[in-house]
Amino acid sequence: MKPIYASVDLGGTNIKAVLADEDGSVRVSRDVPTHSHEGPERVLDRIAELVNELNTEGKCRAAAVGMAVPGLADLARGVTKFLPNLPTQWRDVPVRQLLEPKLGCPIYLLNDVRMATLGELCYGHGRSADTMAFFAVGTGIGGGIVVDGKLRLGPLGAAGELGHQTILPNGPRCGCGSRGCMETLASGPAMVAEAVRLLQCGMAPELYRLVDGDASRVTTKEMAEAAEAGDKNVEEAIVRAGEYLGIGISNVVVTLHPDLVVIGGGVAQIGPLLIDSVRRTLRERVHMIPPESVAVKTSELGTLAGALGGIALAAQGGLVER
Ligand SMILES: [Zn+2]
Repeated sequence: MKPIYASVDLGGTNIKAVLADEDGSVRVSRDVPTHSHEGPERVLDRIAELVNELNTEGKCRAAAVGMAVPGLADLARGVTKFLPNLPTQWRDVPVRQLLEPKLGCPIYLLNDVRMATLGELCYGHGRSADTMAFFAVGTGIGGGIVVDGKLRLGPLGAAGELGHQTILPNGPRCGCGSRGCMETLASGPAMVAEAVRLLQCGMAPELYRLVDGDASRVTTKEMAEAAEAGDKNVEEAIVRAGEYLGIGISNVVVTLHPDLVVIGGGVAQIGPLLIDSVRRTLRERVHMIPPESVAVKTSELGTLAGALGGIALAAQGGLVER
């Protein structure tokens, strides 16, 4: 029988766990609330319970666990260093030491977007790629870099923070402390903020109709629908976000000459309007490298990329020496 591996994604709101074999076929999966205010130890207890329940449900025993964390971790020691969006920020929490005795198998940590990059590399479009850049466009913009078939980690596992490259020198303030990062211009909240402004100025009648004038109901999904229905200003806002993304992607393309750029995360679901704008920007700005040598695709795995990355990490026995 093939060994089964577990993948755990620790998010600010939910913990998602999946059991799958090395081929990526999912056997069981479940989400539970994180309740992060209860502190790291209680959250880790809940993760152990969750994986053990899935072991029982799947009538198997995970041979190893790959765990995604939303921030920085010491990968060799399995200790979280800085998870900015969780209470206490999880500084120096010895996750491996606390969880391994409860799970009876090795556990490997990785940043959540690098995990999704690994998933796309091993099970998605990346299977045929040599050098790849992955952009996860959602509430923020995360990233990951694969060079010559290998995920680039850097000493802190922080290499590939592609959303925090400066696009506009005096642009909006970013959560990272800088200004004008790609994330402040092309993330979901950045796009929605512009759409809400248009709505409130009477410049987006189709969007107004779609959400009954309720600004709190605007998401990038409604924006895509409004653009489709004829709101030229909303369409322009999406195209402009694609240009900002395209500028950042052009910077990465001339730095690495990847054969593949993958755009994942919820915002990628907007579809051709956004992706065509990215491709057009690349053609306008990249002249040192033939643009047709760089494929730009939306993620093949969508929301499963992170979960399958955890399975790959567990099956490979981690990416760094313990
Ligand atoms: Zn930033």
